[in-house]
Amino acid sequence: MLAFDIHSPEEEIHFPLYQEKEVRVFVKRDDMIHPYISGNKWRKLKYPLEEARLTNKTILVTFGGAWSNHLLATACAGAKFRFQTVGFVRGEEVQNPVLALCKLFGMQLYFIGRESYKNKPSVFEKHFGHRDDAYFIDEGGYGEKGALGVKDLLEEIQGIYNHCFCACGTGTTLAGLALGNSAMQLHGIPVLKGGEFIYEELRKLHADPLQVILHLDYHFGGYAKSNIELQNFIQAFCQQTGIMIEPTYTGKLYYALHDLISKDYFAKGSKILTIHTGGLTGLLGYL
Ligand SMILES: *Cc1c(COP(=O)(O)O)cnc(C)c1O
Repeated sequence: MLAFDIHSPEEEIHFPLYQEKEVRVFVKRDDMIHPYISGNKWRKLKYPLEEARLTNKTILVTFGGAWSNHLLATACAGAKFRFQTVGFVRGEEVQNPVLALCKLFGMQLYFIGRESYKNKPSVFEKHFGHRDDAYFIDEGGYGEKGALGVKDLLEEIQGIYNHCFCACGTGTTLAGLALGNSAMQLHGIPVLKGGEFIYEELRKLHADPLQVILHLDYHFGGYAKSNIELQNFIQAFCQQTGIMIEPTYTGKLYYALHDLISKDYFAKGSKILTIHTGGLTGLLGYL
């Protein structure tokens, strides 16, 4: 439908600890789908964009924080597939490299207070309710259509794995994996504090929470928080693997995996698939 169907590569990651503990770790390189419509953000946008096109919508209206990978993905996808884009940004007006890129792709940005931001459908209704050409996309691409786009990822998987890991923000990506998976044990690494809420989100998105294990202690103090230990790990990982990760999502994911492997969480010979969900522009906030 939308001419953009990229199968990301799947490759093994070589890291001394993995060899020492006799486990094998692989990565589905969704970060390579596109530099700005990256990773899970493309997967989550795919069906909403199709629906927008089919119902003759011309404006995509969405929501995010000031460093949102989803805002940037929507801005770029809008430009690529010729939709106008509007982004409501949480909080006071700021400037940063991610928002600059959103504007470069033609997104109109509006900053809204944290209180009104909480009720996104009402913000949409207030500003776009009178227009039948506007299409609502939830923060982070959250929702059932988003999960279905992620589910398609499983059909691309070539290898056979015992475990599959992803980082969780809204839980949509993990829900999508749970919707399509039967063979692998699924694991989620919430990047927010209090990540138990993901179990509830899975239920809302019709995924079975009993299928997944959440590892709740790798948030490093909360969303976008990090410390020197995480930063040192990211440095070592990038240097030894040639695969780039960042502190908000994938850094926490691979740190968690590393920690679990070092604690002999996995049986010898286990094959573990990780989903690199992209979002590398997040690094612009840390440099
Ligand atoms: C948005 C994002 C996530 C979170 O995905 P959810 O589907 O909201 O759980 C994970 N990784 C990266 C790199 C992201 O940009």
